[in-house]
Amino acid sequence: MRDTKRPMKAKNDSRQSDVAPITRTGAKSKNDRSGAGEKTLADLFEHALKDIYYAEKKIYKTLPTMIKAAHDPILREGLSSHRDETATQIERLAHIFELLGKRAKAEKCDAIDGILEESGGLLEDFGNTRTGDAAIIFSCQAVEHYEITRYGSMHTYATELRMSEIADLLKQTLDEEKAADQKLSQVAISRVNYAAEG
Ligand code: FE
Ligand code: ZN
Ligand code: FE
Repeated sequence: MRDTKRPMKAKNDSRQSDVAPITRTGAKSKNDRSGAGEKTLADLFEHALKDIYYAEKKIYKTLPTMIKAAHDPILREGLSSHRDETATQIERLAHIFELLGKRAKAEKCDAIDGILEESGGLLEDFGNTRTGDAAIIFSCQAVEHYEITRYGSMHTYATELRMSEIADLLKQTLDEEKAADQKLSQVAISRVNYAAEG
């Protein structure tokens, strides 16, 4: 398919080099965003950090509701231990703010608010049915996947910005989120879903 964003060069233009340079200068185009108030990857990282700090604190507050509603003992235990892990993750984020020389600050994230709002509704609809535990896992995996995308991006940014200590801290949490997600899949497949089949 043609890349419509760039003018095509004639195929047999002998002056064309083999590798087209990726350039951020040159003629103004609709992709030229210079001058519109500079924002850097470091700014995006800081936004993400405030977002995830808000999200983790909110997840920490919401998990007890899920734990109380869960019937399966292995599911309950898994959620409880992930809540303890979440406390450590919040401390890790506070430490990252400290390393950046910034005050730890949370910023409302509409994405996690939406996921948690939906999970509350699902608990109301399914909580006291035999599908309750499946619905809890359904919601919790949405939360884990949200966290995996955020920590994944932030780990990449920190690496690119050469903040290796911060990148290492983010990688630890990223691995915990992935493990939590896998554990939920395991509990769903081995214990919970069949009980909910009609
Ligand atoms: Fe987390
Ligand atoms: Zn956000
Ligand atoms: Fe998590």
